[in-house]
Amino acid sequence: MALADRPAAATAHRNDRPNDILRVEHLSLSYEGSNALHDITLGIPRHRVTSFIGPSGCGKSTLLRCFNRLNDLIEGCETRGQIWLENEPILDKKMDVTELRRRVGMVFQKPNPFPRSIYENVAYGLRIQGIKRKRQIDEAVEDALRAAALWDEVRDRLHRSALDLSGGQQQRLVIARAIAIEPEVLLLDEPASALDPTSTYRIEELIHVLKERFTLVIVTHNMQQAARVSDYTAFMYQGGLVEHGPTDRLFTNPRQKQTEDYITGRYG
Ligand code: ADP
Ligand code: MG
Repeated sequence: MALADRPAAATAHRNDRPNDILRVEHLSLSYEGSNALHDITLGIPRHRVTSFIGPSGCGKSTLLRCFNRLNDLIEGCETRGQIWLENEPILDKKMDVTELRRRVGMVFQKPNPFPRSIYENVAYGLRIQGIKRKRQIDEAVEDALRAAALWDEVRDRLHRSALDLSGGQQQRLVIARAIAIEPEVLLLDEPASALDPTSTYRIEELIHVLKERFTLVIVTHNMQQAARVSDYTAFMYQGGLVEHGPTDRLFTNPRQKQTEDYITGRYG
């Protein structure tokens, strides 16, 4: 049965959990009629790091893309249920998607800086917002590069091409670009999986610092990484949420057998 023809599960009229900046309620999603997410309900606490883990194809990226409606760009993709950002139902047609994407930024697996200077990469979002004063942009660029732990490495070459940076530096630049416009939530889809161990370590350190300013949601297929960086971990399997809880508890004392099998490496 097509998703659109199914009765909708009742959803609340507002986000009734004040500690959660995002609240997913009975979210289901299909691509061309084939289900990719099944009735997912969970909260994402503010100023914490939440990781999504699970085998390849279980729906982690699909769920992450719902948080800033990137799936809107995929033809044949239908969603049911609701996601609240603070008290706004973001899946509603009325939602201003441009504003949503300003509030919920995204970083992908492969670093994707623009073929412009380091400075222009970070200034980009500020210019889009209509900020013109050079001093204000200079300050915001410096602040974002410092926050992304990249400033010391690039301060002397801000006007050189971003494409000359190493992969790890490019990923920190993309993070700087995302945070320059002060989003509330930063989504990271396997942000370190294309990087070497040293660059990965730097990204993990950064995640730890950034949660003081932002709420972070990270997809990773690396369980050790989830255990290191996140406060909460959610385990997904075949489009469903199997278990979700404090990271320590989930890894030491999983409640579901499927979670235990996965974290002990019985399937992958
Ligand atoms: P994960 O990130 O956990 O590896 P995905 O969210 O990418 O999983 O994929 C979940 C399921 O949805 C998979 O079966 C995948 O083939 C399917 N899927 C993902 N993106 C698309 C798309 N753009 N069109 C059709 N099917 C898709
Ligand atoms: Mg993915």
